[in-house]
Amino acid sequence: LRRAIEREEIKVLYQPIVRLEDRVVAGFEALARWDHPKLGRLSPVEFISIAEEIGLIVDLGLFVLDRTARQLATWQANASRAQEPLFASVNVSSRQLLRHDLIQDLRGVLGRTTLARGSLRLEITESLVMENPEHAAQMLTRIKELGAGLSLDDFGTGYSSLAYLQRFPFDTIKIDQSFVRTTARGTRPVILRSIIALAHDLGMDVVAEGAETDSDAVELYHLGCEYAQGYAFGEPMSAEAATDLLNDKPAPRPRALKIASE
Ligand code: C2E
Ligand code: MG
Ligand code: MG
Repeated sequence: LRRAIEREEIKVLYQPIVRLEDRVVAGFEALARWDHPKLGRLSPVEFISIAEEIGLIVDLGLFVLDRTARQLATWQANASRAQEPLFASVNVSSRQLLRHDLIQDLRGVLGRTTLARGSLRLEITESLVMENPEHAAQMLTRIKELGAGLSLDDFGTGYSSLAYLQRFPFDTIKIDQSFVRTTARGTRPVILRSIIALAHDLGMDVVAEGAETDSDAVELYHLGCEYAQGYAFGEPMSAEAATDLLNDKPAPRPRALKIASE
């Protein structure tokens, strides 16, 4: 793993995040993969915790951040001015947030690239910010001041304090897939609607994670959720495939959504 970055075995894939209103790709989440010479493609679940343990997460995180920022700058430079600027979000793990390098690294990355303010977003899980809420609050404020955006990842899975949620300067809440999926009885969890309302009351946008089917997407739209990410709109893909997706006309809207919005 220590040599994987220099050997270019770490790949960054991009998964589309779609605006539900018109199904246009609004941004991407960067997701790391390790193309291991013997073991094949490894998921981040298999190597991120190891990178944290051996103190490699800062380097690995910087690599993903830098790669994503450059890619986003290219996409933004090639987009027409009428469009809202595309965003890209990068996952940050606890060791990165606890160390002050993150601020330095972020400042460096933002200095090297020309990006629309707030369009490079850091995704931070609620369990991570709740590990040390006072410290996290300070770090989050500095991240915002530098011009990056902030997403609260996997919302609803950890232990969260509503008092802190109010104080943290997140722009976006990402609702965990477990709240998006239908239950065994075929219904959505009852609190999905409340989570969306809570986020809106706090002035935050909502991204639903794990939208796997078209009916997920249609229902999320009707619940007032702005964005969705999931297999319904595309799996994590290479930068080339993501560029092709951006250059294409938006995918035709399925009948259900058309009827609903017309
Ligand atoms: P995450 O940030 O919550 O990312 C979403 C995960 O859900 C991704 O798994 C994605 O491939 C998966 N996913 C997307 N759409 C669907 C869907 O419709 N259904 C289902 N069942 N799953 C879906 P992935 O890529 O394996 O990443 C797992 C976790 O690893 C991420 O969870 C994130 O916490 C972490 N991770 C990934 N890349 C990085 C990185 O560069 N740095 C750090 N620190 N963590 C990373
Ligand atoms: Mg994430
Ligand atoms: Mg997530």
